[in-house]
Amino acid sequence: MSTATLSGKTLAGIIREKTQDEARSLEQDSLRPVLAVVMATDDESTLWYVRSIERAAERAGIDCRIIDLGHDATEQVLASVLRDLSAEPSVNGIILQTPLPADVRADALVGLIAPEKDIDGANPLSLGRLAVGQPAFPPATARAVVEILDHYDIPVAGRNVVVVGRSAVVGKPLSLLLLARDAAVTVCHSRSGPLGKYTREADVVVVAAGRTGLLTGSDVSGKTVVVDVGTNVLPDGSLVGDVDEASVRGVAAALTPVPGGVGSVTTALLLLHTVEAARNQSPSPMLAAQVMETAG
Ligand code: NAP
Repeated sequence: MSTATLSGKTLAGIIREKTQDEARSLEQDSLRPVLAVVMATDDESTLWYVRSIERAAERAGIDCRIIDLGHDATEQVLASVLRDLSAEPSVNGIILQTPLPADVRADALVGLIAPEKDIDGANPLSLGRLAVGQPAFPPATARAVVEILDHYDIPVAGRNVVVVGRSAVVGKPLSLLLLARDAAVTVCHSRSGPLGKYTREADVVVVAAGRTGLLTGSDVSGKTVVVDVGTNVLPDGSLVGDVDEASVRGVAAALTPVPGGVGSVTTALLLLHTVEAARNQSPSPMLAAQVMETAG
């Protein structure tokens, strides 16, 4: 059978347009959204990624401030910068970029990002709010998966959805978003045993494990829609997902590509969350009310 490709590029374009429109309407209220990206690494691919966010932000009408503290930044310095940004009224969104120096406790730091500015859902408070159905920004990647399924009219309510991975940044928040949409969610992880017994029965499988070739053609059926969140860099520098594309293609109903799938939508959503946060923090009650409907 032929497996449909669920590209994220068109959807990312739609989200970028929506973000530009929102930024323009904020400008009419003399507001220009500001995104702060805090980083503490010399890693080339991270630098490249942060610069790509900066370029995309500028195109969308968002000011992006990169605060590069260097690879030897201490936890105290990072904490102080995050506290200041959280308290700074002109800053609307904050990202703490990983990787961080080895002796820094990322868990402690993300808790310092003000929840209303936590546009990548990193603060445990955001995850807690998602869990109880209160307004919060989910991690952009988790929301990207749901947006892709929506964009391609793939229903999840009452469907059997398997999420592979249970991290606080992808698997857990994604499971909460899917539960909120009435999916029957099964979460697999490194101790749940062979994937096939869960995934072969699934309508939708989302793989977010960071393991090349984890999901193969024998793990899926003809009805399965596969969303590949994984990003793995091969020794030759190419980027692949967690899905063994060669064996899954031709068996599954549909598959998101890597690159060009979840990742493209994720970056676009980070910027959409920034304008939504700016609206939320706006002194105009009418603008703030609109955001409550859009966030999450
Ligand atoms: P993570 O924190 O390392 O978590 C990986 C999860 O996968 C863990 O829950 C782990 O189980 C599970 N796992 C590992 N090996 C497994 C196996 N053999 N079978 C089943 N489950 C297994 O990673 P993450 O931050 O969630 O990221 C996951 C992947 O998504 C990575 O490739 C990452 O680069 C990618 N990612 C992509 C985007 C994007 O925008 N496209 C954004 C974020 C992350 P345990 O809990 O038992 O250890």
